[in-house]
Amino acid sequence: MRAKRSKKYRKLMHQYELAFGFREPYQVLVDSNLLRAVHSFKMDLIPALERTLQGQVKPLLTKCSLASIMAGQPTNPRTNNTVRPDFLPPPTTVPLRHCSHNEDSTPIDEAECLLSLLSPLSEVKKNKEHYILATSDPPANTKSNAQQEAGKKRKRGDDEGFQALKRAQGLRRGARSIPGVPIVYVKRSVMILEPMSAPSEGIRDGVEEDKLRTGLADRDARKKEGADSGEKKKKRELKKPKAPNPLSVKKPKKRADEKPGAKRERTGDEVDKRDFEKAAEDGEAAPKAKRRRRHKGARQVETGEDGNEATPTAPVEATAD
Ligand SMILES: [Zn+2]
Repeated sequence: MRAKRSKKYRKLMHQYELAFGFREPYQVLVDSNLLRAVHSFKMDLIPALERTLQGQVKPLLTKCSLASIMAGQPTNPRTNNTVRPDFLPPPTTVPLRHCSHNEDSTPIDEAECLLSLLSPLSEVKKNKEHYILATSDPPANTKSNAQQEAGKKRKRGDDEGFQALKRAQGLRRGARSIPGVPIVYVKRSVMILEPMSAPSEGIRDGVEEDKLRTGLADRDARKKEGADSGEKKKKRELKKPKAPNPLSVKKPKKRADEKPGAKRERTGDEVDKRDFEKAAEDGEAAPKAKRRRRHKGARQVETGEDGNEATPTAPVEATAD
């Protein structure tokens, strides 16, 4: 299972590299929920990320994520500093990603902050900085256990948990809508790399198509450079089928118009007939005799039937005189 999954993830990250230009070390934006989940499941953050992403990673925590983590923390009365929670790794492990969303740089909602870093431009959704989002659902189990113990506080706590869950799901949904954002999340103590979102797949397929097209264009260019005569031949071949068609359409029309005159001139039989007619005018009775033969033969067949003396050859010879 693990080998199969790592192979799948390696393939997926390779696609992100080809289609979106991801390079190691991968910049991973980790959010507060991921840090909580990693801590609660006793995972080792960087090795877990590197196993999942099949490469070197550079985790980053935004200023707004840090603010949301520190917001609920008590202050140390001695130093008057906010106590760092156990799940927050030291800045040497997870450096701070400075972000500024407003004039006085006050932190904003964590999910909004992360989405604005994943897609800085409002017009075009694009993960310019090649960030990977590492997130998780809020640790609902531990909370609900605590709430079950607390009894009365359960309802309000469930509401808060539900809101936190909604925010976490909203963050992932938002990240999926930006093409080229690999999403890592922890689910039941397993770190998962999500399959490509539909917008990411769209870009990836577009890149592959472009590569195919440019490949074909290069081939065409090589052909043109290699053989100019071949190109001319192609043009002629294109013209040829176009040209004969109108001609072949016109020709039968002309023939139909010229049929009466042309046929007499062309057919040998009719030339012969003309000769015969000329000959008849000169006084030779060969064609007339032929006509008489037919008439008389027909009549004689009829008469022959009547008179029982019907030999077809004899009357022809007789009328030839
Ligand atoms: Zn921020």
